Amino acid sequence: TLRLAERMSRLGTESAFEVLARARALEAQGRSVIHLEIGEPDFDTPPHIVAAAVQALRAGHTHYTPATGIPELREAIAREVSRTRGVEVGPERVVVTPGGKPIMFFTILALAGEGDEVIYPDPGFPIYESVIRFAGARPVPLTLREENNFAFDPDELRSLVSERTRLVIVNSPHNPTGAVVGRDALAELARLAQDRDFLVLSDEIYSRILYEGEFASVASFPGMLDRTIILDGFSKTYAMTGWRLGYGVMPPALAEQVTRLAINCNSCVPGFVQLAGVAALTGPQDDVSRMVEEFRRRRDAIVDGLNRLPGVRCLRPAGAFYVFPNVSGLGKDSRTIARDLLDEAGVAVLAGDGFGRGGAGYLRFSYANSLENILEALERMGRLIETRY
Ligand code: PLP
Repeated sequence: TLRLAERMSRLGTESAFEVLARARALEAQGRSVIHLEIGEPDFDTPPHIVAAAVQALRAGHTHYTPATGIPELREAIAREVSRTRGVEVGPERVVVTPGGKPIMFFTILALAGEGDEVIYPDPGFPIYESVIRFAGARPVPLTLREENNFAFDPDELRSLVSERTRLVIVNSPHNPTGAVVGRDALAELARLAQDRDFLVLSDEIYSRILYEGEFASVASFPGMLDRTIILDGFSKTYAMTGWRLGYGVMPPALAEQVTRLAINCNSCVPGFVQLAGVAALTGPQDDVSRMVEEFRRRRDAIVDGLNRLPGVRCLRPAGAFYVFPNVSGLGKDSRTIARDLLDEAGVAVLAGDGFGRGGAGYLRFSYANSLENILEALERMGRLIETRY
């Protein structure tokens, strides 16, 4: 038997990949499955971005690049972040990574260890808790409640902060609920960070997928640029999940340490992928708007459809491409419902408790799928409830 290092027992995973594998196995047996489990846009990467990568490959951009990223991309990111967050950011704060995920891994490893605490959203992206534990720090869940539209309650946050708090993770728009945190809560977070001396990891990977209002980043509040790590990337905004291109914007001293971790891990992101990223940021943005408008139509269809089902209640989120319906009215736990949906109705979704204790009684649907498939999935779910529940 394989003898693993102790730390591996503290590493978690992401249930989306497991459910996807089970769904694919059913499909291999000839079953029809509608995929609402995985969080990735169903659109193709816009052609001008693909063309930039092809051109860069032909031009020989196939070697190592600087570990922090090529200067052109770091500058384009700094301009983009300055424009969208309303705070002046220079390229020295930018670290380019293979997707946004490594920014989580690297910044948590760099900032929190034995004896430290990290506050993270629950329900929330499962990798936060996994990496906090892996780093040897104590994960402190901040419960997000349906009655608060799944935004965090600043009073609750304040009560969780201790002398040992090193980092608070916020994610807006939020996976798995689609919730967007308002300016008041962010202002309170900013005050607390300065009073109690902690940093904020602000996961803004869905910041461009927003249906109402303007995006606000905690980094733009007075005194917060040097206390915030912005995580963002190309996966969701430009339908580039498989390209593995993301970035962090952070205080320069932390950027040096994160770069050291990157040198120990991945060295750099392929040059032709980074040049595709430059094309994405500097080229036309109409594809982004088109995708967001299409997501909005799907959001409305899925929210309306879910609310018509007996025993199901669903908020209409302002961002990302997820809904998080409350299914406690169906009288079974969310894992059983998710399993029934896949095995009996051919609809792949995730159980809410895969996102933390706070997710029990909920399901997560990704509506990054065609309207037609979404409507069919709702029908299948309706039939399952009618016949089996
Ligand atoms: N943060 C959140 C909340 C996510 O949902 C995801 C992807 O699912 C990521 C970060 C990471 O995305 P990527 O590594 O593809 O940039």
